[in-house]
Amino acid sequence: MHSGTCLCGAVRFRTDATPEGASVCHCSQCRRQSGHLWASAYVPTEALAISGPVTWFESSANGRRGFCPRCGSFLFWRDVTETTTSFSLGALEAPTGLRLSKHIFTADKGDYYEISDGLPQRP
Ligand SMILES: [Zn+2]
Repeated sequence: MHSGTCLCGAVRFRTDATPEGASVCHCSQCRRQSGHLWASAYVPTEALAISGPVTWFESSANGRRGFCPRCGSFLFWRDVTETTTSFSLGALEAPTGLRLSKHIFTADKGDYYEISDGLPQRP
């Protein structure tokens, strides 16, 4: 079981599913919303229980970004045409038992840092 919360605790989530695709996203939307990078993993949307006043921002035609309207924590991402929802690894309670597997959207990364941890990079 994995559970997590936003900074103020108003929004909480939990899942009994095994998170997949633990990754770091370097796209400009994730960098703007998070302040740098967004680390996440995904589970089936039906297996993710979310409580509290999460607000969904429509960042594109199909993209939805869920955040806490009280403290601003960026917690969720989903594509409305898909059946999974990604959640912030940084919001999880420890120990997570998870390991990052890759970097994604690296072609869109900022020019102020390098990626040097040796994990696979997907442009
Ligand atoms: Zn909050």
